[in-house]
Amino acid sequence: MDVKCRRLEGKVAVVTASTQGIGLAIAERLGLEGAAVVISSRKQKNVDEAVEGLRAKGITVVGAVCHVSNAEQRKHLIGTAVKNFGHIDIVVSNAAANPSVDSILEMKESVLDKLWDINVKASILLLQDAAPHLRKGSSVILISSIAGYNPDAALTMYGVTKTALFGLTKALATEMGPNTRVNCIAPGFVPTRFAGFLTTNETIRNELIERSILKRLGSVEDMASAAAFLASDDSSFITAETIVVAGGTQSRL
Ligand code: NAP
Repeated sequence: MDVKCRRLEGKVAVVTASTQGIGLAIAERLGLEGAAVVISSRKQKNVDEAVEGLRAKGITVVGAVCHVSNAEQRKHLIGTAVKNFGHIDIVVSNAAANPSVDSILEMKESVLDKLWDINVKASILLLQDAAPHLRKGSSVILISSIAGYNPDAALTMYGVTKTALFGLTKALATEMGPNTRVNCIAPGFVPTRFAGFLTTNETIRNELIERSILKRLGSVEDMASAAAFLASDDSSFITAETIVVAGGTQSRL
């Protein structure tokens, strides 16, 4: 990533689910723009490798294991940020699960619970832990999905949890303002491990590309640059909003 701007100098960022894919790209971009970054995911090995990779790029970074639905690990993640850097300016809530392609009417209750726990509730609980440490001018970013506007087949209830994040963004922005801004990113389709069941199927991949005005899938860097904007003072009058980063794929008017 060729990043010349250092608009996040002096800021501290916590990013969940950030050892690969969109989360890692966001952590890298925030770090290259000058933020000290705290990365995390479920597996120590992945955390260690990502920390090493980011340090090699000159980024100030520490890591913590945090499965976002584990209360102790969420507290440990926030504690790691505060212990190392004293405060928090940016929280990116990026973790999500899509454990089933069942239709909603056939979805098991345990799957419904998991979707709610990881995709919605964990963001709320993480922010409850983070809130006392957020400084004036801080920025919270929730990672939703274009599926929050159009929960297609295979993305049914997952899409509905992502719709919930649009409402959560507005509600939290009201609660956390004026000192903290809360915004949301709704990515289009990006070929990561998470979306591999769609993007590695040539027919589906071509259909997703066709649906976008820009005739391509998204990249993790596309999402990272939107996150860096929302994290920075360049977006200081923007709160309670969702930015769709989807190459013009139909979302809303
Ligand atoms: P990805 O490339 O598969 O990366 C997932 C990351 O999350 C890994 O670092 C993984 O590491 C970590 N992780 C998984 N479950 C976790 C959990 N319960 N707690 C903490 N960390 C966890 O996924 P991605 O495509 O970047 O997706 C990131 C976000 O973007 C998600 O919110 C997703 O809904 C959203 N999104 C993605 C797309 C897309 O097309 N890719 C589109 C719209 C929205 P470990 O295995 O070590 O935990």
